[in-house]
Amino acid sequence: MAEKLIISVSGLRGIIGENLDAAIAAQYGCAFGTYLKSSIPKDKKLSVCIGRDSRPSGQMLLSAVASGLCSAGIDVVDIGLAATPTVGVALTSMGFDGGIVITASHNPIPYNGVKLLLADGVAPEPEAAAKIRQIFIDKAFEPVGSVDCGKIACCDNANQLHIDKILKIIDVDIIASKKFKVVLDSVNGAGFPAAKILLEKLGCEIVAVNNEPTGLFAHTPEPTKDNLKELCDIVKQNNADIGFAQDPDADRLAIIDENGTYIGEEYTLALAAKHIFKDRTGSAAANLSTSRMIDDIAKQTNCTVIRTPVGEANVAKAMLDNNCIIGGEGNGGVIDLRVGPVRDSFVAMGLILELMATEDKQVSSLVGEIPAYYMFKDKFKADPSQAQALIEQVKSKFSNAEINTSDGCRIDLADGWLHIRASNTEPVMRIIVEAADKATADKYIEAVSKIRKN
Ligand code: MG
Repeated sequence: MAEKLIISVSGLRGIIGENLDAAIAAQYGCAFGTYLKSSIPKDKKLSVCIGRDSRPSGQMLLSAVASGLCSAGIDVVDIGLAATPTVGVALTSMGFDGGIVITASHNPIPYNGVKLLLADGVAPEPEAAAKIRQIFIDKAFEPVGSVDCGKIACCDNANQLHIDKILKIIDVDIIASKKFKVVLDSVNGAGFPAAKILLEKLGCEIVAVNNEPTGLFAHTPEPTKDNLKELCDIVKQNNADIGFAQDPDADRLAIIDENGTYIGEEYTLALAAKHIFKDRTGSAAANLSTSRMIDDIAKQTNCTVIRTPVGEANVAKAMLDNNCIIGGEGNGGVIDLRVGPVRDSFVAMGLILELMATEDKQVSSLVGEIPAYYMFKDKFKADPSQAQALIEQVKSKFSNAEINTSDGCRIDLADGWLHIRASNTEPVMRIIVEAADKATADKYIEAVSKIRKN
């Protein structure tokens, strides 16, 4: 059976030729333009920047969305092939009224999507997202007449603009003095051009693999352990200091240590936070499913961690509201507001290379300094009422624990935690358990299984 077009807070996602085509994309662009005009009181013409990852369908969708925006009277600046965080930086630093990224992130090649950002660089909040969705579904567009149509211009220096912002927050000279050898796997996504600018400025020797932005992904694109075995071998064979793996739109980063060991995406944020907290005191924001490592690191340096519902926009919003000095998600997404409120694999690379340089340590020793946990993730079918019932039962089973119910429920105990939540896009529940060892984690997994079976 054909999958349904998904319309969520972060935009629209579908399969090209099946449920997503140029006509739908143009209408979605027009819906976003119509929404922007209704929400921003401005005499001047509104403008939106738009970029795309490297998927073969990217140019087609970008043109269609841009046409839809122009038909609503919105000017468009096309930044072309770009990482998602690069679009975010262009948006916030050049003062656009909105931003769009044509990407389906780590999903397979047939997928693509239209990701929306408002002027602050963050995805629309649920209320605004619902309005945009309704305009799209009702076709309640507000097209303009001929002389008021939006115009399309191009911008070809967004990568440079983005990397310049990163270079301002890190010590380029100390990193360059180390002459790091870096293996970079951009999975033939959008990440390589900007990563090349960054790593060359940082004096790194780059061993580039899968660096052609063709959108023909060289391996399953999510930067998880199973998908990066070859990269681990390449890091080892080249005696490199570190291996970096980006996802297709380069907002996530996974790390391979100098021994060719995949250290897990949770460590990307943990290492970045370790580095930031060393010199600055403040708070971090991370979603409820992110490892406790960041809390341990924060405690050592009198910093604090704000936990948010899952979803990049929730983390970014909490960071902006609380002026957080670092934040992100356990999937390798690091956010530093000095660059932009978007998960950014380039920021993560810069901070981690700076940590290695300033501490004069290899990745494996830096990882070894952070107390390790065992983490287990699973999902199972549950409709909304089953999900709610399970959450209530889990809450009562662990009523003595610290409980956060801002997104499903997260139960924090002395020796571990568990988070169960309903997916926003499919009738499943996700469970994540983390504990100091497998036996303890198994105890909590078993407790939830027992409740489910009753
Ligand atoms: Mg992504």
